[in-house]
Amino acid sequence: MAETTSTQPQSMEFQTEAKQLLHLMIHALYSHKEVFLRELISNASDALDKLRFESLTDSSILNSDTELAIHIKLDKTAKTITISDNGIGMNRQEVIENIGTIARSGSKAFLEKMTGDQKFDSNLIGKFGVGFYSVFMVASSVKLVSKRAGSDEPAIQWESNGEDKYTITEASKDDCGTEITIYLKEEESSYVEDWQVRSIIKKYSDFIAFPIYLPNEKGKEEIINQTKPLWRRSSSEITKEQYEEFYQQLGGFDKPLATMHTRAEGIMEYSSLLFLPSKAPFDLFSLDRKHGVKLYVKRVFILDNCKELLPEYLRFVRGIVDSEDLPLNVSREMLQNNPVIDKIRKTLVNKILGKLKEMAEKEPDDYKTFWNEFGPVLKEGLHTDFENKEKLQELIRFQSSMSENSDDLVSLKQYVGRMREDQKDIYYITGESRDIVEKSPHLEIFKAKSIEVLFMVDPIDEWIVNDIYNYEGKQLKSVTQGDLDLGELGKEEQDIKKKAESKFKKLSARIKNILSEQVKEVRVTTRLKDSPACLVADDNGMSSQMEKLMKSMGQNVPESKRILEINAQHLILQNLNSRYEKDPKDPELEEWVHLIYEQALIAEGQMVPDPLAYSQRINKILTKVSS
Ligand code: ADP
Repeated sequence: MAETTSTQPQSMEFQTEAKQLLHLMIHALYSHKEVFLRELISNASDALDKLRFESLTDSSILNSDTELAIHIKLDKTAKTITISDNGIGMNRQEVIENIGTIARSGSKAFLEKMTGDQKFDSNLIGKFGVGFYSVFMVASSVKLVSKRAGSDEPAIQWESNGEDKYTITEASKDDCGTEITIYLKEEESSYVEDWQVRSIIKKYSDFIAFPIYLPNEKGKEEIINQTKPLWRRSSSEITKEQYEEFYQQLGGFDKPLATMHTRAEGIMEYSSLLFLPSKAPFDLFSLDRKHGVKLYVKRVFILDNCKELLPEYLRFVRGIVDSEDLPLNVSREMLQNNPVIDKIRKTLVNKILGKLKEMAEKEPDDYKTFWNEFGPVLKEGLHTDFENKEKLQELIRFQSSMSENSDDLVSLKQYVGRMREDQKDIYYITGESRDIVEKSPHLEIFKAKSIEVLFMVDPIDEWIVNDIYNYEGKQLKSVTQGDLDLGELGKEEQDIKKKAESKFKKLSARIKNILSEQVKEVRVTTRLKDSPACLVADDNGMSSQMEKLMKSMGQNVPESKRILEINAQHLILQNLNSRYEKDPKDPELEEWVHLIYEQALIAEGQMVPDPLAYSQRINKILTKVSS
């Protein structure tokens, strides 16, 4: 690019991803174009918040008699809408970085999600924070003039028609802040109508904490939004729709599943307005996932994503907390181990867990929705929030061998309530999916005896079983680990097993010898009914699912051998035993033993270590069948 002086318009290209996004905005979004106004007003409101916040440490940037506000002007002849704020503003570099580039990962995720699918809900715009560009749904071109507060740099003008390029040049503007002029497309010119603008603002931006001014018919400016923050009002004055609108202003893109609005007075004074979303955001599990709670102090916005107000495992909750007890110049550092914050956090956690309990009891369908979206996150709490372990144990849900489908969930309390008489322990199986664990040979005896087994199919379940360890005095036992002891319920099988053990003693030793590389022990089991064999970990060993998970996380997993359990009642094993008795050195024995081991691996969803050798063994047998 040729050198230009900054007073001449300089033409610059949008970054590639920004171009893609703009293209989508212009060509793929059809419905709800009106949200552009919400996005620009919300940016203006953020800019005002930022200025107010910076002025706490640098009072020179804000005159005490300046009113922080948003002004809208409509020009019917020129078909323009102008939105201006006297907020923080941007300097040249910031304009280029914020408006010409997509630096945030959220926008990239938005793009990945959007490309190739044009029928999406425009609410996603807010969700992914790509707000500014939405203006190009209605604008043929946009002019932005901005001046950074507290800086000597001249004001800067940015202009674009939303295609590949924008121009940037110096401008004159006396006060700090940003003014955006939207040149409406011919077919979108109805947005210049006064009533339209009023109704859109009523719908989306009514609770913006700053006044929004619009001239009335007489040309006199008047405030068109409610400026008293919603959370400061009594909940009896607030309608469900108003709560929903507020939730959307906070970036919610769905309808909240539950709303919790409290005002605490007394030793501590604060208001909180929290929402449980009904849909998980796309980045719930990403490491830099932001928390959804904003902190205000005495109605002044302090910061977004206030991690200190809620534990990690409640990171899906959105809302605001407005405290009377913190100083206005509170910094992020001061929030850590702050006694006021700690107390608020404690009450919020109680409130949320209480709400979930109530929902589980009274609105089971809502709770199911919640669980399906956020269950795995809530489970993290069992690992990290020891204080609330008991409450959390009541809230977790599992699929089970007695549930009809993946939608039919069971709590620990229900499980214990329907345990068989004489059953001592709570049984579970971990694995990749319901489909896999459901068919596991390890469940055969449990099915035969109608003993319920919990299906733990979330990766995190491997960890939390150790955290729960025991519930109401009942231990959690894996059905794929340790020698099976069903106590009274397994008496009959124990007798059969004893007899089989002596009958199969030599064969077991021979099998162990053949599989010495693969297994650490071979023993007769009572847990199988239809399958010839299965693999189990010993009591302190790592389950195969845990091993898989650790490997997938790049961890070094020590080679651990498992135990091969054989079903002495099974015809294959009985035949094998007779062959062995006839000729302990029978060479075919070896082939078959390998096959039995490999089948046991396959049955639990593992890979056979040498698929070629496996298929050769099968082929050998099949050849015999056909000859
Ligand atoms: P988001 O608001 O989700 O970050 P936008 O595309 O709406 O995404 O805006 C990008 C960035 O541009 C904002 O984060 C902000 O830094 C800057 N910005 C937008 N509008 C304004 C404004 N009126 N005043 C100051 N900065 C603004």
